[in-house]
Amino acid sequence: MTFREKFNTLKNGAVDFFFPPRCLCCGKLLLPADPLALCPICLASYSLAARLPCRRCGKDTADCTCCSDLLVSAGVYRVAKAAPYLPEEENSPVRAVLFSLKHENSRDAKAFVARELARAARRMPEDLSGFTVTFVPRGRKGRRANGYDQMEDVSRLLAKELSLPWEPVARRSPDAKEQKDLDRKKRIENAKNSLLPLPALDAKGKRYLAVDDVLTTGASLAALASLLRSAGAAEVRAAVFAARG
Ligand SMILES: [Zn+2]
Ligand SMILES: [Zn+2]
Repeated sequence: MTFREKFNTLKNGAVDFFFPPRCLCCGKLLLPADPLALCPICLASYSLAARLPCRRCGKDTADCTCCSDLLVSAGVYRVAKAAPYLPEEENSPVRAVLFSLKHENSRDAKAFVARELARAARRMPEDLSGFTVTFVPRGRKGRRANGYDQMEDVSRLLAKELSLPWEPVARRSPDAKEQKDLDRKKRIENAKNSLLPLPALDAKGKRYLAVDDVLTTGASLAALASLLRSAGAAEVRAAVFAARG
């Protein structure tokens, strides 16, 4: 164990002592035997939601890997999904986990999302050996406000879980707008111009698993996939935590 790992273990132990882990959805104190991040009841409701059928292929969301036309046109033919994204649903565990991930930099939320992404990725029909894990970088505005990029952390954890290498490949262009402030058409346009390859990027012949927290139009993932394909990547697959059906 390195000093940093020892320090983190001690720090996390102290955090758990003073702020015992609570269910990210209902706030109930978690028992040591309880699963990670959600209490058994909220986890059951999460698992039920993951079985909602996909509107395109009819499979459970957690088993569906189908892609929107936009993703297909960017050369992505498989997207693993952990759960459906239903923003209008109050008290949804998916929404609660996303909130803790985005706004609270929650360690439990990151670990939960990474584990769920790993489960979704492992359900893909073809295996992922030879793939490198990467992520859609978030906008400067989001990063400035929170000081961290949650998907950078989550994708690192995911790479560890899948025993795959991890690599950041892109950054946001300084004049990109926030995707969530735009309508569908403008999102696609904005996303296209929003990502720049990192100077050290060498994607020639490589296969990437690109991850993101939420999939709505797919514009951000499509932009990342296009960037990787133009840099010579052989294949890009995607995995998302919450996908709109
Ligand atoms: Zn709960
Ligand atoms: Zn589907």
